[in-house]
Amino acid sequence: MAIALRSRLHELVGSSACRTTAQLESLGIRRTDRQVAVGVRLPLAADPARRLLAESLVDMLLRLDPLVGEVVIDMPGGHEFEWVAELARRVPFEQTDVKALPEFCVGVGDFDGAALLVDGAGWLAGIRSTVEAKDDGNPVGPLAAAALGAAEIFKWAFSEVHTEPSTAPELREWSGVFSLSSYAFDLANPPMGPVNLDATLVGLGGVGAGVLRVIAALGSRVTGTLALVDADMLTVHNLNRVSYSSTQAAEAGASKVEEATRFLHMRSPNLTVTGFRETYGEFKLRTPLRKDRRYDVVVAGLDNDEARWEIQRDIPRILIDGATGRDMNTRVERVEFGRYGCLGCSRQMTRILEEDARDCDAPLDSRAPSLSFLSSFPGILAAGELIKEAQGAFQLRGSFDHVFRYGPNPDLRGTPERRVDCTVGCSRSAKISQYHSKYPTERLG
Ligand SMILES: [Zn+2]
Repeated sequence: MAIALRSRLHELVGSSACRTTAQLESLGIRRTDRQVAVGVRLPLAADPARRLLAESLVDMLLRLDPLVGEVVIDMPGGHEFEWVAELARRVPFEQTDVKALPEFCVGVGDFDGAALLVDGAGWLAGIRSTVEAKDDGNPVGPLAAAALGAAEIFKWAFSEVHTEPSTAPELREWSGVFSLSSYAFDLANPPMGPVNLDATLVGLGGVGAGVLRVIAALGSRVTGTLALVDADMLTVHNLNRVSYSSTQAAEAGASKVEEATRFLHMRSPNLTVTGFRETYGEFKLRTPLRKDRRYDVVVAGLDNDEARWEIQRDIPRILIDGATGRDMNTRVERVEFGRYGCLGCSRQMTRILEEDARDCDAPLDSRAPSLSFLSSFPGILAAGELIKEAQGAFQLRGSFDHVFRYGPNPDLRGTPERRVDCTVGCSRSAKISQYHSKYPTERLG
């Protein structure tokens, strides 16, 4: 049975503060009264990976309001109602009968006349191509496929709304199966073992929300400890990307840490989650001396380089950074201190490039452009690196960039050099010996 979900997010947030509208405007759309309707179809007897993909895709699409106005879901079985009721707590929408067929239909794991096929299992995400892999409970492929699929729908919807071809930005369709294990088209898909964490997540915005979605989807498979650090309160403006929050908590201005902790407690019962409603600067002072600050794995989902460098200076054993940049760019980066360039090396370069491209007098935009799939994608990949860390294999050495205007590109994976002018000073012998004394079992290459 099919039902229609009409998003009420834009109505709740209002045009002037809408980040999705800001993103559309930055890509050249001035009027947003034309809305599209998208159908998402899941075949009978879909495995849990495809169900997760379909549900996450609907979640991301509803957050694309005002571009996407309606999502028609066609999912067999009675299970969908429980799921839709859960989604209704996090995204404001109105549920109605289907009055008209959607303009664009997406098939999850099955084409069957759909305009777009998306699929995912294990570490693999497929667009316009099925994934021939077993569902082993790994949520990274399915969730990444949801984000990549939402991006393909965005490209179609954008071309529908942007009616002047001469000024249209380049948004290129792609098809293929991409591995989030190898960041290549080699179908690499190592099996997922137990996931035991000793991690700290700093930043609970759009990127942090992507991390939380993966951890929540692991459910009872994830054990160990996770510390959450963020001083901010929620607002309704966050709802286009902060998918762990209930609408009620965002309207009430609850703290991000409190809401994220609640979200994980309900979904990952074997993980010990501790929330710290404070900045990283306050959090680190719980351990007064830098040499005593031992953090096994820190995941950063922050919006500025100063904050990234502050964490890097404390030298976690492993630092995983998820970031969004200009022009629909995203990046995941994993730093093994002293082995290659750190965030003080790589982000310095990014900053020089971005400053070159920017009008220096322009004020910082308080409503920075953002899209649901765009900010969650680097978070999903960062969580993937967290899972690899727990398995002790296949980790990224350096960074992987993804530009949503195009398809994934294995050439955008790279290991940064250590820079002599690194703002963190990662080449200095004092820094390296500090790392060595903190983590004596780590051998520096
Ligand atoms: Zn460095």
